Amino acid sequence: MLRATLQPHSIRAWEGLRDPSPWKLRVDLGPVGRCADTPDLTLLAFDGSGSIAASGGKDPVGNRYEEARIPLERLRRCRCGACLAGLVHFDYPAGYIAPGTLADREFQRTLQAGLRDPLDGMGVSLIGPSLTKATELAAAHPDHAARLVVFSDWELFDSFDYTARLLRFPGEVLAVGLGCTPPLSLKSESVTTLRIDHGDPPGATARALFGALVSNRPGATAH
Ligand SMILES: [Zn+2]
Repeated sequence: MLRATLQPHSIRAWEGLRDPSPWKLRVDLGPVGRCADTPDLTLLAFDGSGSIAASGGKDPVGNRYEEARIPLERLRRCRCGACLAGLVHFDYPAGYIAPGTLADREFQRTLQAGLRDPLDGMGVSLIGPSLTKATELAAAHPDHAARLVVFSDWELFDSFDYTARLLRFPGEVLAVGLGCTPPLSLKSESVTTLRIDHGDPPGATARALFGALVSNRPGATAH
């Protein structure tokens, strides 16, 4: 069961006042379980367009990157050494981080540093470039169980039917709608849709991503 969260500004500000170190959300995500026989390849795609990133945008509290750090860090517990993750922003190739080993401390630093809107990004409202790259990456890792997690407000201007391409993605897809419901045409066996809104409890985004990251792991439970 995937659930999502928003971080009220008031709580964040209060935490910041209490502790000058970077604010950290603490959220109980559940046991991470064991690596499956087939290792995972999880690709994260972030929409950094103005309708989300700008002040008053649809990222409920500007918190999607902060919350994504938590479940990714938990997957450092990968013991097989073959579970991978990568970042493909809508502004691809800006901000792209090629898949690396989640168990590797150095790669975790690289991945976590990439959880932000790319400095050289244009804030495009197009999923096409990132979807093409993610599909190529999944095809290039036939020994992995591929998974694509998309965070967007789904106000997109692609000139093609991107929903059909998401439905054809060679792996599971989690389509997260920030302040909106993802297109109904995405609902299928391979695509899970989830809406995260203002007013959802803190940790919703972290829980949603954790649920996707451990969906293939025996013994894992997403709270
Ligand atoms: Zn593993």
